[in-house]
Amino acid sequence: PDHLDFFGIAIANTTMGEAIDWIVRRIRDDRPATIAFVNPDCLNIAYTNPEYREVLNQVERVLPDGIGIRFGCRILGFGLRANVNGTDMFPRLCERCADEKLSLFLLGARPGVARQAAENMLQRYPDLKIAGTRDGYFAPDAEAEVIETINRSGADILLVAFGVPKQELWLWKHRSRLKPRIAMGVGGLFDFYSG
Ligand code: UDP
Repeated sequence: PDHLDFFGIAIANTTMGEAIDWIVRRIRDDRPATIAFVNPDCLNIAYTNPEYREVLNQVERVLPDGIGIRFGCRILGFGLRANVNGTDMFPRLCERCADEKLSLFLLGARPGVARQAAENMLQRYPDLKIAGTRDGYFAPDAEAEVIETINRSGADILLVAFGVPKQELWLWKHRSRLKPRIAMGVGGLFDFYSG
């Protein structure tokens, strides 16, 4: 099946290559989408946080992040095709974006971290277009300016790293104001790739 009902959350049963194709197609078709990655930790949060659970039920795509979901699916007797996590996806997405001339905006993590992660990807994929970066510790009254900066950057894809569930709630709240066609919450991704 295309989706698996994992404790009440519809998880896309896909592969990394197909998940990236799906992102590119949504941009080309001008069909906005929010993507959430979930691991077992996220499911625990979803149990106690109804707003987050509601967002997971409404986003266009939930991807299975990490081996925990894979083990869970095995126990439930589901054939999960692949572990489609953000850490593995990021470099492959950057490579594909460089080929397709699509640009990324990296929002979140401590000051300088998103920029460093972007620079590291630019070293690997010199044709990559990074539309902008911004740390995730802006004051609430800077929010409108942050959204304006993202929109003016012309980014096709927005990656937001505020941690779960803050990033998902933020993306969902502002989805109608955000211009990037694809938005996704990526947790500690920029910390991982800034080293
Ligand atoms: N973060 C942020 N703004 C905040 C809170 C957190 O930018 O107000 C960043 C933090 O610096 C880190 C990321 O969000 O880069 C959360 O990473 P973590 O590995 O904790 O994410 P999770 O495990 O929730 O996916």
